[in-house]
Amino acid sequence: MRLSRHFLPVSRETPADAQIVSHQLMLRAGLIRQTAAGIYAWLPAGHRVLRKIEQIVREEQDRAGAIELLMPTVQSADLWRESGRYDAYGPEMLRFKDRHEREMLYGPTAEEVITAIFRDSARSYRDLPRTLYNIQWKFRDEVRPRFGVMRGREFLMKDAYSFDLDEAGARHSYNRMFVAYLRTYARMGLSAIPMQADTGPIGGDLSHEFIVLAPTGESEVFYHRNWEQLRSLDVDADDPAALQAFVSGLTADYAATDEKRDPAREAAAGDALRQSRGIEVGHIFFFGTKYSAAMGMTVQGPDGSAITPQMGSYGIGVSRLMGAIIEANHDANGIIWPESVAPYQVALINLRADDAACAAAADEIYAKLMAAGKDTLYDDRDERGGAKFATADLLGLPWQLVIGPKGLASGVVEMKNRRTGEKAELSPESALARLI
Ligand code: ATP
Ligand code: MG
Ligand code: MG
Ligand code: MG
Repeated sequence: MRLSRHFLPVSRETPADAQIVSHQLMLRAGLIRQTAAGIYAWLPAGHRVLRKIEQIVREEQDRAGAIELLMPTVQSADLWRESGRYDAYGPEMLRFKDRHEREMLYGPTAEEVITAIFRDSARSYRDLPRTLYNIQWKFRDEVRPRFGVMRGREFLMKDAYSFDLDEAGARHSYNRMFVAYLRTYARMGLSAIPMQADTGPIGGDLSHEFIVLAPTGESEVFYHRNWEQLRSLDVDADDPAALQAFVSGLTADYAATDEKRDPAREAAAGDALRQSRGIEVGHIFFFGTKYSAAMGMTVQGPDGSAITPQMGSYGIGVSRLMGAIIEANHDANGIIWPESVAPYQVALINLRADDAACAAAADEIYAKLMAAGKDTLYDDRDERGGAKFATADLLGLPWQLVIGPKGLASGVVEMKNRRTGEKAELSPESALARLI
């Protein structure tokens, strides 16, 4: 993409109303624009990142055997009356009426919708187990929307729902998601710690929040220092016993949010106990027959008896992840995208748009990068070099390739790694060879 024809409204000023660095950088780099409190438009570069995060989430859900569908954002209040949650949910739910005075809502989550869909189609034990998911916008009328997309009112969530015949099956479905989540975050360059979370009235230990450590996070968290090391995620998720052993092994190291602190386990951790703040980027939950029973969902077992499926639900904050990734990857000059989610891989900078030789060389490199399928942002604007460097650093693309008259005269271009700051002078051919 040529910057001269792009819509990429970057800004030098730090917005006064943005309190945390990811929010500031998302505004400055032209990734988002607020249109109402907690409601954002995704500008072209931000939209590209959102789609990349979403795609990683999708691939790991698919790999875990979950099946994608798409449910509506607008739901009927009647469905929520079936589960008994309509009155209980409170003011976070955005409620409205259609022209026929029917009560509607903008979905904050989709347990009711998916349970109704599955109930109407699943007949026998052979239809289970299944895990279904969608990546869809949610709305929660948060009391205090803040920190940009981190706590928006409208936000993109991946929500998955598992249906199993018995608790052992449900635990396996849960464990599959547990590992899929860790793999998902790792692919985005994040290490998220699964922390024991509140299960409500059902009890048990089957609820985890996935927390990315960050000083600006809203949760207070406590964990064993072993979580600071990288964990291998090499396990056969199709083998229930191996998977259970793997998950038990991981969770043997203490990690809990402040609501779930365990003094005995903290004492056992001794001076290996760490305290920090963190961002909730996902939450998985087993809730048994809460919705299936309330909404009258049964399937016929092998012996003809009625089975009420055991369910779980699994959320990932897709749009919140963008903020979390930036919190974990930035410096004083801007964002430093991990390659897997960068809006473009390469910033191609022509220092002298008015110099015919520079323009010809840059055009040629651009054509080659594009032909090789390398997403490139080509700064072909008639601007000062300093402004171009500042934009490239702010946008945080992994590689910068700089074409200038001096270098060109001696047959070299400059290649810079945004993360390490390492620079190398190379012939255009070897620079291309490194990138492609
Ligand atoms: P929080 O504690 O931050 O309010 P939650 O526990 O209410 O989140 P869940 O119901 O567990 O959220 O939803 C699943 C995921 O959706 C969360 O782990 C989080 O990543 C994301 N999420 C929830 N609320 C928001 C929001 N207002 N803006 C952006 N993402 C959100
Ligand atoms: Mg909440
Ligand atoms: Mg929470
Ligand atoms: Mg939660």
